[in-house]
Amino acid sequence: MDDKNLLIANLLFPDVCQTPEDMEKRYPERGLPEGAKVTRIAPSPTGFVHFGNLFPAFVSERLARQSGGVFLLRIEDTDSQRKVEGAVETIISSFAYYGLNFDEGVTTGADIGNYGPYTQSQRAYIYHIYAKDLVARGLAYPCFLTKEELEDIRAQQEKQKVLPGCYGKWSKYRDCDIETIKQLISQGKPYVLRLRSPGKEGGRITYTDIVKGKLEMDENYLDQVLLKSDGIPTYHFAHAVDDHLMRVTHVVRGEEWLSSLPLHLQLFGVLNFKAPKYLHISLLMKQDGNSKRKLSKRHDPEAALTYYKQQGYPAQSVREYVMTLLNSNYEEWRMQNPGLDLNEFKFTTAKMAHSSSLFDLHKLDDVSKNTIATMSAKQVTSYVLDWAYEFDSELYKLLSADTDYAEKIFAIGRNDPKPRKDLAKWSEVRGYIDFFFDSLFAVKDAFPENVCTSDTRKILQEYCKIYDCQDDSQHWFERIKQLAESMQYAPKPKDYKQNPQMYKGHVGDISMVLRIAVTGKTMSPDLYSVMQILGKQRVIKRLMDALERIKE
Ligand code: GLU
Repeated sequence: MDDKNLLIANLLFPDVCQTPEDMEKRYPERGLPEGAKVTRIAPSPTGFVHFGNLFPAFVSERLARQSGGVFLLRIEDTDSQRKVEGAVETIISSFAYYGLNFDEGVTTGADIGNYGPYTQSQRAYIYHIYAKDLVARGLAYPCFLTKEELEDIRAQQEKQKVLPGCYGKWSKYRDCDIETIKQLISQGKPYVLRLRSPGKEGGRITYTDIVKGKLEMDENYLDQVLLKSDGIPTYHFAHAVDDHLMRVTHVVRGEEWLSSLPLHLQLFGVLNFKAPKYLHISLLMKQDGNSKRKLSKRHDPEAALTYYKQQGYPAQSVREYVMTLLNSNYEEWRMQNPGLDLNEFKFTTAKMAHSSSLFDLHKLDDVSKNTIATMSAKQVTSYVLDWAYEFDSELYKLLSADTDYAEKIFAIGRNDPKPRKDLAKWSEVRGYIDFFFDSLFAVKDAFPENVCTSDTRKILQEYCKIYDCQDDSQHWFERIKQLAESMQYAPKPKDYKQNPQMYKGHVGDISMVLRIAVTGKTMSPDLYSVMQILGKQRVIKRLMDALERIKE
């Protein structure tokens, strides 16, 4: 170690007495069984959780769980301007909602685990130990360039058409003598700490990403900032120090970090750390007209994780959907194993998409309809109640006043071999079941045009006389067929199709008149079940009310 560098190190970090060796002892190898993966997510507490954050989180969680490893939460709060009150709680509860729970790291109480602190703002002393060591070994230096000087350098670089940034001859303080440094520091001049990059212009590196495969990239030769002027590390420096000391084996993160990979690998190198394995997840794209673009926080409400909860997508549906995007064989597995828990699926990085995946709300709706179709009426009732409690108090009041009634409604068509798939999200429930409640009942659709008004009237009048709530579904339908026949409507649609001149219409027209009278709509769940649940009195009242309306 050269004395000059040691002197600068002591000058910059007079209070730092510990060494990297001390840190190695403090944060030893974890001693996990061979193959166990240590993963983490490292969100910034900005108050906004992007839907895309679920992807690295799911992958990290699966990799750790499936290998008997550790999944941890680290909070990257080095950018104090972006910090928002309560954001950490939001992060934890958002991920927990999707079944992502951490073994270690930040919690709503004290940290859990022996590798903390897990919040970067509490780790300044650790970063400084490594920063001091790098300076002492000639691998980092203080840079006093002002904003104006940097702008000036950039302008010259643009003119000369060379890479912008601080490096080589452009970096005035790269080889500054100790006297000048001493003087500038004693004058209180602000400085950042820069890496003295060992990279060469024109150098290339190769790296094999777990998903992207073999990559060849330009070597980093920029003297990147490691510590900002307030002593707080940049993401790059903190990433290397934290993931090394937390003994993270696999870093799963968004593709937007891929361009920083050469710098990160270089940092692991100069710090004498073994680099983790990287897995960069492709961007989530959205179809916009004929082109595709990034799912954007500013333009797409569905970019926010909160959107899914508000809309009432069950967490299970969102998990299913994320998994279909993450592993190309997931959907097939799900079809073969409809009853199994998602965690029984063997997630593998080999089945992950190399390029961007297309985000599609319609697909999510389909996945969610399938998911909800597998739930029991009891489960649906309980989920809807939870959702309505938070987002639709009127619906909550109605449903919670008689949960047996609610359960009967949600049971319609649920035990069939081919269950109904009406609902994709709980916010659709109100429109689906409103007619079961007098206070929400509204006539939305008109009676069918192909049935004349006098026939409509007659259907309603006659049906009031013959409706028997004791009927089973077969008898119930028999009566409607008889009514059809008595009014010259074919008892089977097929008969009508074969001989349209013989009939005014068919049994479906009769049912439609009844359906609209009872539910107010042309589309509803099974009418027999609807009438059973509504009860005789209410059915007759709806029929009579409809008659009244026709008279008006
Ligand atoms: N704090 C970074 C972010 O929020 C973390 C990236 C990483 O996982 O390393 O994007």
